[in-house]
Amino acid sequence: VWTRCLQFIKDNIDEQAFKTWFEPIVAIELTTENALYIQVPSKFFYEWLEEHYVKILKSALIKELGHNARLLYKIRMENTQGNKQPFTEQLPSSQREPVKTQELDVPIQTKNPEIKNPFVIPGIRNVKIESQLNSNYSFDNFLEGESNRLGRSAGMAVANKPGGTAFNPLMIYGGVGLGKTHLAHAIGVEIKDKHPDKTVLYISAEVFTQQYVDSVRKQTRNDFIYFYQLIDILIVDDIQFLSGKSGTQDVFFHIFNYLHQNGKQVILTSDKAPVDMQDIEQRLLSRFKWGLSAEIQHPDFETRVNILKNILYRDGVEMPQEVIEYVAKSIKSNIRELEGAIISLIAQSSFNKREITLELAKSVVDKFVKNVKREISIDYIQKVVSDYFKLDLDTLRSKSRKRNIVQARQLAMFFAKKYTKASLANIGSQIGDRDHATVLHACKTVDNLLETDKQFKAFFEDINNKLSI
Ligand code: ADP
Ligand code: MG
Repeated sequence: VWTRCLQFIKDNIDEQAFKTWFEPIVAIELTTENALYIQVPSKFFYEWLEEHYVKILKSALIKELGHNARLLYKIRMENTQGNKQPFTEQLPSSQREPVKTQELDVPIQTKNPEIKNPFVIPGIRNVKIESQLNSNYSFDNFLEGESNRLGRSAGMAVANKPGGTAFNPLMIYGGVGLGKTHLAHAIGVEIKDKHPDKTVLYISAEVFTQQYVDSVRKQTRNDFIYFYQLIDILIVDDIQFLSGKSGTQDVFFHIFNYLHQNGKQVILTSDKAPVDMQDIEQRLLSRFKWGLSAEIQHPDFETRVNILKNILYRDGVEMPQEVIEYVAKSIKSNIRELEGAIISLIAQSSFNKREITLELAKSVVDKFVKNVKREISIDYIQKVVSDYFKLDLDTLRSKSRKRNIVQARQLAMFFAKKYTKASLANIGSQIGDRDHATVLHACKTVDNLLETDKQFKAFFEDINNKLSI
């Protein structure tokens, strides 16, 4: 059936479009309910099809399967572990299942084996460098408002002429969940689109640091530097992560200078303005100020409403205006939370088949706002755990193998994993300079002890309560 649909589509659209948008589709099954499952490579792909080819798809389907035919999409999405996580989405009319916001700082190791060790082949000029960009984050779906106008337009200018504007580096800074990562990707995606010959690399400062530390261990520091010198547009997200890491700052300084001198573009994001960054070398800070620092501020009401409407449009869900406004009024300072709230609301109504009323919105949103945990840091967790066991912080982090100390340390690691977004390696390095395997082991041990040791479980619950107030 699908082959015949394809033939029909092929006859009706141009060849290039057919190649790009229809050849990658895999037909999966035709159910007895006359529903055809097809698999597409990404959410973006799905959205593109829906936006541009829904008519022709419908006609093809009706022609082959009749009027009660339905088309269902499976989207292959990579999660942070790099596992394929297919989920089903339905088209055209019914609401789709809410999709969890994708975690963006995809560790390079899992996603691109090629870049995992890009530095092992010194001297080879044409290593193919994958950009690591997420095409779901584009300018098109980065809604403009007073709060991001400067960053957005500077980003556009940079995308038009990378390396050729006064905005080098372009530093985008602002609080959590305001769109820094999104904008950084959008600039990269736009550059790839406009300048396909340029080598773009998006990397989080955390992954950059891990790669650097690795290269020192493997004595491939020069290859590491060399690799970064091949890049035309370097995007480093959350540069504040380099705070206090002088070795990494050093190598970054070196790379930055090389790129800048050679007219390459550097784009940085940070949760603080350059003047407020702590434990970053002065010479690096002064480089950051060479170009343009654009702040992303809290979105105003109108922008929040637009962002919500965009999500609803994307998901094909309708909602009364008063509900949209209620959500936009309730959540002001974090767009990620704004998205989270509207997605829980959609989920609530579709799971329970309830109409989306102001009343439902109030209950869902109020609960959501309460449940959003304030950011808990690893330091804070260590403090709570060591206070609880009446240890001092140094003892907790020490190499001591005393049972009670080991258990306290393992609990701290477990909670750090539970309550922060830090990687295992990062948790390990902050809790007494240990590696990720130790943290993983700690988490497993805690899981086991919770099953077998009542006393331990009581400790665990006490601390958990303290942390989740
Ligand atoms: P940050 O990196 O500043 O913490 P993100 O870039 O991860 O924030 O943004 C958080 C969420 O909000 C993302 O899902 C992003 O797509 C969304 N978002 C942020 N700004 C906008 C915007 N202007 N328009 C649409 N969505 C936005
Ligand atoms: Mg971010």
